[in-house]
Amino acid sequence: MRFIEALKLRSKLFFLFILITLGLVGIGIMGALNVNSMKKNIDALYFGSMVPVTELNEILQLYHGDIANTFYRAKGLELSPSETFAHIDASLKKIEKIWASYENHYKRDNEMEYVTYVASEIKTTNDYFNNLLEVQKIGKDLSVLSTNSIHNEIAHIDAIIQKLIKYEVDIAKFERKKFLQGYDVEIIEIGIVLLLIIITVLLILYLVFSSIQKDQIELESMAKKLRSANKKLETVSYTDSLTTLHNRRYFNLVYDRELKRAKRTHSYITFMMIDIDFFKQYNDTYGHIEGDNALKEVAKTLRDSLHRPSDFVFRLGGEEFGILLTQTDEENSAILAQSLCDAVRARRVEHKASKAHEYLTISVGVVCCVADDALDEDMLISHADKMLYKAKESGRNRFVIDSSVTDVTASNEPWTIEEVSA
Ligand code: GH3
Ligand code: MG
Ligand code: MG
Repeated sequence: MRFIEALKLRSKLFFLFILITLGLVGIGIMGALNVNSMKKNIDALYFGSMVPVTELNEILQLYHGDIANTFYRAKGLELSPSETFAHIDASLKKIEKIWASYENHYKRDNEMEYVTYVASEIKTTNDYFNNLLEVQKIGKDLSVLSTNSIHNEIAHIDAIIQKLIKYEVDIAKFERKKFLQGYDVEIIEIGIVLLLIIITVLLILYLVFSSIQKDQIELESMAKKLRSANKKLETVSYTDSLTTLHNRRYFNLVYDRELKRAKRTHSYITFMMIDIDFFKQYNDTYGHIEGDNALKEVAKTLRDSLHRPSDFVFRLGGEEFGILLTQTDEENSAILAQSLCDAVRARRVEHKASKAHEYLTISVGVVCCVADDALDEDMLISHADKMLYKAKESGRNRFVIDSSVTDVTASNEPWTIEEVSA
């Protein structure tokens, strides 16, 4: 098990492949060996039992059908002496040949004695018929031959050969029974071996699969951890550590996305550039740590002033912030900008060195327009920057809005909320 677990996934699959191949090859070899041994057994059964019986029957057929018949026909003068001689001679030679072939087959020791006896009887019988031919040769008439003595001769050899046939048939039956019984045992043995092979292969397969499954679960949990770590990393990489607002990197991402969306739908887009007034002096007066606290305070105020999920506030760098709004018209953008200025001032963060107000204040440059194809990426930012500059110029602690960014023919006169209400 440890050995399997130590393997890599690819090695595990390779191991499985080798295992299945070996299992199949093992089963194949066993099957082939078995078929081969069965072939040999069937061959032995056929040549050991069936062929000898067939040969003995052929000999009997020759004695009865050929020899006896030829003599009877010769006696009835149906055949000429020379035809008779040729027939009988050929049959006797055939019998000798078949007998020689029969004797050649494997014989058991207890069988040998009777086989030798049959051989001598065949020889005696054949000599008898050869003698008859000799008689005929010297001119004697075959018609005087006794049918009885031929019949007796054939009946005698028939009985002897029948006994041998019976013996061979008994042996064949015995061998067949032995073969079938042996085969039954062999089939059970093969079945057990195959079962063992299959169980072993299945067991190892189970071990490998459970190990792969374990790897898979581990992999999935690691992937999950990795995904959550990535998400955290992404959040960190898009967050400003001091104020916890979105940082400039995230601004670039969102700005691009929202601008494209607004252009596509020809809807309002608003961008505000926010800068704390006289912040250098604030640092100089209260120190850097207080400066940082003031930055956090402003960040929180800005964040709390936005209510829609589609409103974004970013710390763009230093003491500069950006706000991006969608679907907000000029009037509402102006109202929000004013509320931002009011909210920061309302925090009552003391700023003795400010020439704008006794408390910490911000200036806001606002650009609001319906996005169209004429609006390019930098326009909003550069115009907001200009508006911010104007807000600073005109006394700080205020906003200036420009709503004609994309309209080159417009008078382009920026305004503030005081002008609106005036
Ligand atoms: P203005 O009204 O014209 O904006 O005047 P200002 O003094 O704010 O001028 P400016 O914007 O150029 O000054 C930015 C100052 O903000 C300079 C720097 O000391 C301070 N500042 C920038 N980043 C940080 C920060 O992370 N922490 C602190 N404490 N101060 C910062
Ligand atoms: Mg600044
Ligand atoms: Mg400033």
